Amino acid sequence: MNKFLERLKGGEILVADGATGSNLQKMGLKPGKPPEDLIIDDPDTLLKLARSFAEAGSDIILTCTFGGTRIRMKDSKYQDRTPEVNMRAAEIARKAAALNNGLVAGSMGPVGAILKPYGPLEPEEVKAMFAEQAKALAEGGVDLLLIETMFSFEETTAAFEGARSVTELPMVVSFSYDRGTRTMMGVKPKDVMKHYSEMGATLVGANCGTTLENMEAVVREYAATAPNFPLWVKPNAGVPHMDIETEQGVYDMSPEDMATYARKYVELGAKVVGGCCGNTPEHIAAIVKAVKI
Ligand SMILES: [Zn+2]
Repeated sequence: MNKFLERLKGGEILVADGATGSNLQKMGLKPGKPPEDLIIDDPDTLLKLARSFAEAGSDIILTCTFGGTRIRMKDSKYQDRTPEVNMRAAEIARKAAALNNGLVAGSMGPVGAILKPYGPLEPEEVKAMFAEQAKALAEGGVDLLLIETMFSFEETTAAFEGARSVTELPMVVSFSYDRGTRTMMGVKPKDVMKHYSEMGATLVGANCGTTLENMEAVVREYAATAPNFPLWVKPNAGVPHMDIETEQGVYDMSPEDMATYARKYVELGAKVVGGCCGNTPEHIAAIVKAVKI
């Protein structure tokens, strides 16, 4: 049996990792440079960050492939090596996850352009791009696929169908409600839950977003729509404000704040909790302490 499904079935609450982008910037990644470049240029930095999460107690390490679809890789100098980049990222994450006998989630984020009828992209080409990415991540040895920070049904469904056409791995669908409890396209949690639980997602969830309170409202809406359906909840450490000197986002939620809310999310049905932007290994360690028996 798949290791992720086995651990869920065992009743375990799993803790995912913290932020990739905001932590890599602290480690010297220049704003505007795609993190995916590091997979080839500087795998040691990625491994170091991933290891720090595993050491903090993360059970699930995400691959650094949020922008790893071929179209989004146009920002990277390695676009022509898209499958290799995804495969290598999975290998790096597996090395780190092994420290805690953990799992690897293959991260797949939005392609960065809008689908028809609102934009130029054909659903079939988007499906093919996600299929290519999912296949490479699966070959790299991930335990599950995570379609994350999504905001529209059109793209998420293309991602889901594309990935499903190449692998039987468990899939998590996670939306970002960055208008509070709606996505920027006006999508509502109850409709996301209905759609993707029926489509065969193993977990439905939310990541990034705005405040921890808004995330709680989203989680409540999911739980009210499908009681007992397992949830994935990975919020930002609050809404960032800009530090003028360092030109980096500052996130105000403390490790204790994240831990308090993580416990609430688990009470409401979250089976995986973690942290998106602004979450450091200290935040993850506090979450682990709060939700693990
Ligand atoms: Zn985020």
